[in-house]
Amino acid sequence: MSNDDCIFCQIVDGDIPSRTVFEDDTAKAFLDANPLSPGHTLVIPKEHHETLEDTPEDVAAHVFGALHRLNTAVQHAVDADGANVAFNDGEAAGQEVPHVHGHIIPRFEDDGGRPIHAIVGERPDLSDAKLDEIAEKIHNQRD
Ligand code: AMP
Ligand code: ZN
Repeated sequence: MSNDDCIFCQIVDGDIPSRTVFEDDTAKAFLDANPLSPGHTLVIPKEHHETLEDTPEDVAAHVFGALHRLNTAVQHAVDADGANVAFNDGEAAGQEVPHVHGHIIPRFEDDGGRPIHAIVGERPDLSDAKLDEIAEKIHNQRD
């Protein structure tokens, strides 16, 4: 389903141009318009889903398959030394476009960038008991 107000749905519908690097019935990938590094690529489901939680598992798995293949293609295309592959899942995590998308951000030796561990300001100091409690809650949440 397409959302008229969504820029990524408009890209899927061809109403906004994109530098498409991959497309099939379920997923589409295109270069980020404001790249963090050469080759910065976004991979999206064609259907409008806002977050990973909203995305049906088969669609999410398909998007991840595309991410997996494109991660190699992108890194080879720009001769990268690595990549950060990540989702900003939800506004609190920095998601600006509310149509779920995975980023492939090529990385280069000495590019001055930082690892994914740098996304939070300060790490929480969690006791063993608290970690056990969190692990149990996550375990109990699974379908
Ligand atoms: P996020 O903060 O994870 O929602 O990232 C949204 C990304 O979409 C940003 O990296 C933007 O540069 C990118 N973006 C926004 N509009 C477009 C567009 N029309 N074409 C390609 N990328 C876009
Ligand atoms: Zn959308």
